[in-house]
Amino acid sequence: MKMIYSRKQSQKHHELLKTFLPGGKYSSYAIKDSSSPIVFCRGKGSRLWDVDGNEYLDFNLKSGSAFLGHAHDEFSSVLGDFIGAPFFADHYSNELAACRYLRQYIPCCEAVRFGLSGTEIVLNAVRLARAYTHRSKIIRFYGHYHGNADPLIYSNKVLIERPFLRPFVTEGAIDSHIENDNLLLPWNDIEAVEKAFQDYTEQIAAVIMEPVAVNGGGIYPKEGYLERIRELCTNNNAILIFDEIITGIRMGLGGAQSVLKVVPDLCVLGKAVGGGIPVSVLCGKMDIMNAYESGRVIQAGTFNGYTLGLTAIGSVFQIIEKHADNYYQNMERVMKNICSVLFESAKKVGFPVSVQGPLTCMSIHCTESELKSVDEFDGKVRFMDGVLRECFIGHGILNAYTSRIYANINLTEDDVEFFGKRITGALEDASLLLS
Ligand code: PMP
Repeated sequence: MKMIYSRKQSQKHHELLKTFLPGGKYSSYAIKDSSSPIVFCRGKGSRLWDVDGNEYLDFNLKSGSAFLGHAHDEFSSVLGDFIGAPFFADHYSNELAACRYLRQYIPCCEAVRFGLSGTEIVLNAVRLARAYTHRSKIIRFYGHYHGNADPLIYSNKVLIERPFLRPFVTEGAIDSHIENDNLLLPWNDIEAVEKAFQDYTEQIAAVIMEPVAVNGGGIYPKEGYLERIRELCTNNNAILIFDEIITGIRMGLGGAQSVLKVVPDLCVLGKAVGGGIPVSVLCGKMDIMNAYESGRVIQAGTFNGYTLGLTAIGSVFQIIEKHADNYYQNMERVMKNICSVLFESAKKVGFPVSVQGPLTCMSIHCTESELKSVDEFDGKVRFMDGVLRECFIGHGILNAYTSRIYANINLTEDDVEFFGKRITGALEDASLLLS
């Protein structure tokens, strides 16, 4: 093994932390990883530094949130104005900027509501769909992730034998009624969706999906698939919800819906839209969102519409809008160059890799050919991708879980060079570990 980074200080910290925090990590998904966590102390642009003095090219970006990179001057200065400011109880003067930007750029956005986390806002979207339609059943898809809440994480018994397949089974912890209301279908199988609408006529409140199955390995919808689901929802008076917690802002200011040209009834945004500040958004068609006005459905939370979060959204849009074409083109160019360097090294080392999904939230897989389904990803490939990630980290390339790499607007050719110097060692380690 050629791991070049020693993480003694991080390990010491982790040993202490474990005495307080069962599992020693903040996410159950991270506990599955074998490595000890890294303790960071500084960040700028695309780079992070840990307490042992190691430098990392950050493709994790706090699970994709820090889309402007770290310590972005303009963003930090705007946010700084609100740190130590009064905690406004009701409304404050510049909250309209966030609302205006969302309506301007997100195709389905006629009205908005705000939350703090992705999970919370997805739950609100599902509740709204149920209240609006007076129906209870929700169609979801294997491999798509919608957050850490019982109705979103539940899966059926088949999955117990395939523990890698998301949504995860949390046996014994989930109310039994959830089983009846969740229709879990395979992604990209239009007949399955058509059949569900036939079998449960006038019972389906909503179809919820990641419009690109990023959590399922980066699998795009097949041609015509989204359009047909759109049509089925319209014809059956069901609500189409896009979970754009990852793809929103990342695939362009209008998210996946503007790139794929299918407009949902509701969509949720989180992560990148707040630039690293915890905030989430529910956007949607006015007649559905008006259910809040009539009081037929409740959405509430101490920190909803929190000053810092709404300021962050306004600032993220403002910063990106000024140079939007440049930022997106530059990220795509740099990510393509990262791919070329990756493939070159993989060829040299004789290690199988492929990449797929949108360039700004791309998955690196330990396979030679593109994965066609979420099933192909789950299991062995997901496991190997996790090992690959550990090897990347040992060489200063910080990927997100499994082995996803998130772009940020600061990426330059320097980052490609940094990546190029380290990738061969990382792949050699992976090839030793996985042989
Ligand atoms: N939806 C998607 C598509 C996600 O990727 C995530 C988080 N990874 C969530 C929802 C949940 O968001 P949060 O972790 O902020 O609750």
